[in-house]
Amino acid sequence: MQSPLETVNEMSRNNGVLPYFLDNPCALIIGGKFLGSAPVVSLPCYGASARLALAGGSHKSKMAHNYDALILGAGAAGLMCAIEAGKRGQRVAVLERAARAGKKILISGGGRCNFTNLHCRSENFISANAHFAKSALARYTPADFIALVESHAIPYHEKTLGQLFCDRAARDITDMLEAECRAAKVDLFLNTAIQEVRHATEFIVHATDNEFSAPVLVVATGGLTIPKMGATDFGYQIARQFGIKIRETRPALTPLLLESADRSTYCDLAGVSTDVIASIDRHAFREAMLITHQGLSGPAILQVSSYWNKAEPLRIDLAPDREVFASLRSSSTRNVGAARAAVQLALPNRFATRWLDAHLPTRWTNADLERLEAELHQWTITPAGTEGFDKAEVTLGGVATDELSSKTMESRKIRGLFFIGEVVDVTGHLGGFNFQWAWASGAAAGRAL
Ligand SMILES: Cc1cc2nc3c(=O)[nH]c(=O)nc-3n(C[C@H](O)[C@H](O)[C@H](O)COP(=O)(O)OP(=O)(O)OC[C@H]3O[C@@H](n4cnc5c(N)ncnc54)[C@H](O)[C@@H]3O)c2cc1C
Repeated sequence: MQSPLETVNEMSRNNGVLPYFLDNPCALIIGGKFLGSAPVVSLPCYGASARLALAGGSHKSKMAHNYDALILGAGAAGLMCAIEAGKRGQRVAVLERAARAGKKILISGGGRCNFTNLHCRSENFISANAHFAKSALARYTPADFIALVESHAIPYHEKTLGQLFCDRAARDITDMLEAECRAAKVDLFLNTAIQEVRHATEFIVHATDNEFSAPVLVVATGGLTIPKMGATDFGYQIARQFGIKIRETRPALTPLLLESADRSTYCDLAGVSTDVIASIDRHAFREAMLITHQGLSGPAILQVSSYWNKAEPLRIDLAPDREVFASLRSSSTRNVGAARAAVQLALPNRFATRWLDAHLPTRWTNADLERLEAELHQWTITPAGTEGFDKAEVTLGGVATDELSSKTMESRKIRGLFFIGEVVDVTGHLGGFNFQWAWASGAAAGRAL
């Protein structure tokens, strides 16, 4: 097969007349290779709009493309869905606004993509219906995704708590998904901004330069996090257009902001990190907490942020499994210096000093020391807010699960309309669970198309 660049050059030489496959010209350019592969990088944009520009740019009428299924969004869920459907012989087009596929995958896990978690259970997900995710998660497991990763000889490692990361870079995962798409003959249309979706006998999607139709439409447009990277509420708009309920959306896995008094007490210690148990209600997470310039972050805080409601206090055990003041209680030397030395055995020095100064007892009786011990294990903080969608990793809420089949992700109301990935009201804990949901819900839909 010739490369996309060769094809584009050939089109240019032919004054925009496409040499082959006139009924589906985009497959020439897009089905063969994806953005990021070496020959394409020199093109300013790669997709239907690039093709039209090269073909003379004077076309006013839109090109019409008919497929078995259209998938909106080339993120983790959309690509997995396309691969599964393509493997089953479906003619699939993925329509993506951005100039490349899988942008969030590339920045995930600090650039190494925490692509799944060995200990994936339904308890690792938040949804109005705690049972909804079970079926898809059981039918596409972490072992399935690991097998795919291993079949592409991608090196990976377990970092902690079952979290699997690429050894090299997240690019390994996007390259793998793109290769699988090519093998499944999926057409990927990049730089494709969708203007309108209509539904008559089929779904008709109007993009700037193209019109697409198919009996099936899969919405995989993700959530609202990192708007700078192009996140939109398009998936929710489509749901509303078809009368499908949405659960209120809000940022999750996000740093928390401290009230001004706590901020001035602790935030000059930005960068200090310590092992804690952070909890809200019955949800407790033992991981690192990080002090930031405005508040608290780190895995333990990100995890509880998904359960945090405005004005609610969170409790932080700053010295899990340790009795910090036991030595003081059995000693006759009871003063600030001895207490500081004890807390410094459990916390980084500067934070230990700062915390103790803010909680100094008036006396050093056993009862006072017990109270101090209790406060250290139940440091109660009421955040002022979150850092919002700009810094959140994921969106809580979304398309209501009672609107969808848990087996296929198809709408119960509108036949042929599917929602997968983050746009659905299923939100994973930190640790590779959100990608596992994207793979599993994408596979569930892809196998049902
Ligand atoms: C900084 C960061 C780090 C993360 N790290 C991890 C991690 O290590 N492990 C983990 O499990 N999860 C991680 N996540 C969460 C994970 O990235 C998401 O849960 C996952 O990407 C969701 O997949 P998705 O396919 O549903 O949506 P997305 O990956 O967001 O894909 C949606 C796609 O749809 C496209 N789109 C949007 N609107 C339109 C439109 N109108 N027309 C056409 N296309 C459109 C977008 O451009 C995008 O490509 C991280 C998130 C962030 C922000």
